[in-house]
Amino acid sequence: MKCPRPFLSAEITQHGEVRLCCPSWLPTSIGNIKDKDVWNSEIAIKIRKSILDENYEYCRYEFCPFLSSGINLEENPSENAINSIENNETKLSYGPEKVVACYDRSCSLHCKSCRSEVIMEDSQDLHNHFLRFIKDTKHLTLLGSGELFSSKVILNWLSNFDKTKFPKLNHICILSNGLLFNKPNWEKIMPVQHLVKEIKISMDAVSKETYLLNREGGDFDTLINNLNFIKTLNIKTYLVFVVQKNNFFEMKEFVTFARKYNFHPTFILLDNWGTYSKEEYESRAVHLKTNPSFIKFKKTLNDPFFKGSDIYLSNLNQFID
Ligand code: SF4
Repeated sequence: MKCPRPFLSAEITQHGEVRLCCPSWLPTSIGNIKDKDVWNSEIAIKIRKSILDENYEYCRYEFCPFLSSGINLEENPSENAINSIENNETKLSYGPEKVVACYDRSCSLHCKSCRSEVIMEDSQDLHNHFLRFIKDTKHLTLLGSGELFSSKVILNWLSNFDKTKFPKLNHICILSNGLLFNKPNWEKIMPVQHLVKEIKISMDAVSKETYLLNREGGDFDTLINNLNFIKTLNIKTYLVFVVQKNNFFEMKEFVTFARKYNFHPTFILLDNWGTYSKEEYESRAVHLKTNPSFIKFKKTLNDPFFKGSDIYLSNLNQFID
């Protein structure tokens, strides 16, 4: 099977750079959202060709669950994407159907894996280009780069959302650190509530002590209150845990914790987004064979407990024997 992602998805990253998949898995930018027809740029066409040729030369094997573990990430690829792959088309006549917005980094936290200080920014200019880019989009993820409820621009857009301008949009996935995901803020986004079909909350710990280490600026008690509120929404919710040296021994407890809420525990490998020195990253990344905790991490993960069908191991699957 050929990966359909670059035939249907786009991620708008910092400063408006556009990728055809998660930047940790496929880092090459296809251009800027301000460029004319960035979706069919020269490099976008080359990336799609590498998929059709099945050499995947732009993709990072270790971080991509499709390449590292054979996980089908697009269970129901659109007809457009299927036809393009079957017909060897690399220049697409339709726009991106799945878009992840990562052009606004506003967030009240400053987690070490992501940034060294609190960032609040005005993304209005990029947002205006984004609105033109998503005319064909059905599935939108907000916000992969920061906190939706901290972003004045995104919050304002959703609070005044006009569905007639985005008739194809039928699925919104909210990514959040959970700290501002409370009833008053949920009510602010009333016009899109019916489109929110998925919620992903990053937690990266289960104990308060580890949470405060990994979610710098966070408030564990507020998070727990908000998780209780999110549970009442009855929307498919994933609780996300980026695995590293200071938390991998909490993985089992995390699963039990998520199950109490009927949420899906989701694990992801720690990546280096340039915030760690090489040494610090290597010391934190227990999935590296050179890390002193690698064997313990692997043993933890290979406990039959982690075979539960509600658990998403994503790119950790490659470490299952
Ligand atoms: S990184 Fe993986 S999911 Fe992304 S385009 Fe490449 S093969 Fe597909």
